Amino acid sequence: MDLGKIDALRGIREDGDALVIGAMTTHSAVASDPLVAQHAALIGKAVATVADAQVRNRGTFGGALAHADPAGDVGAPALALGAQFVIAGQGGSTRTVDASEFFVDLFETAIAEDELLTEVRIPKHTGWGAHYEKFVRIAQQWSIVAVAASVRSEGGNIAEARVALTNMGSTPIRATSVEQALQGQPATEDAIRAAVAAVAEGTNPPTDLNGDAGYRKHLAEVLTRRAVLTAATG
Ligand SMILES: Cc1cc2nc3c(=O)[nH]c(=O)nc-3n(C[C@H](O)[C@H](O)[C@H](O)COP(=O)(O)OP(=O)(O)OC[C@H]3O[C@@H](n4cnc5c(N)ncnc54)[C@H](O)[C@@H]3O)c2cc1C
Repeated sequence: MDLGKIDALRGIREDGDALVIGAMTTHSAVASDPLVAQHAALIGKAVATVADAQVRNRGTFGGALAHADPAGDVGAPALALGAQFVIAGQGGSTRTVDASEFFVDLFETAIAEDELLTEVRIPKHTGWGAHYEKFVRIAQQWSIVAVAASVRSEGGNIAEARVALTNMGSTPIRATSVEQALQGQPATEDAIRAAVAAVAEGTNPPTDLNGDAGYRKHLAEVLTRRAVLTAATG
């Protein structure tokens, strides 16, 4: 194996309007990176909640996305920020897949068996507030439900919002109707509560020992309110 090629899959760099995260960059490197904090704060905050320090020091950003566990914490923020996935095929060909088409189903992505995810391009969201609200029963566990929110504020109002849900279906879910409902709203608890009330509509969360689908739908509403309020007001 050419170690130079493996090194090329690690690291974080700027490329114009995008932040580029190599697939083999560890969670801990992503969580502590100043460029991530500046241009894609939502990614850094979500990745910081992954498991414990040992897992974050070994697990990779690209590996977690390729694994596509619906309870994983990297998919929803990548979806919310409109990430693009660069996938290499045999013979050096590459293709780029939008986040909206990357997550196909439970543990299934657009990466084919003979392909490799090489890097993830995140459009810069410089100056946007961000928060990842994760609900767990036991510390450092996978999300029962979590919500990724990034907000651009203007004069106390929400100018734009990006919201996506973790573990509310077989893939991460972008809450586009909530994003639209939030646009132009004052960043107050009451306004946000009303705008996010229908966030669980159309979702299909699992039922397991941690809670049933109805419980998760209720959680999604509460966590979205908290995530958006924190992202909007810091
Ligand atoms: C105890 C424990 C707790 C965890 N808790 C959480 C949590 O709370 N939240 C969370 O989000 N995650 C959690 N994880 C998962 C963790 O985030 C790892 O990132 C994830 O397991 C992937 O590990 P990895 O990067 O070593 O990839 P691997 O385990 O090596 O790979 C995972 C899968 O993706 C494929 N793959 C890997 N890299 C690529 C690539 N570049 N291109 C194409 N396919 C690829 C592999 O073939 C494999 O099928 C946890 C893991 C453990 C062990």
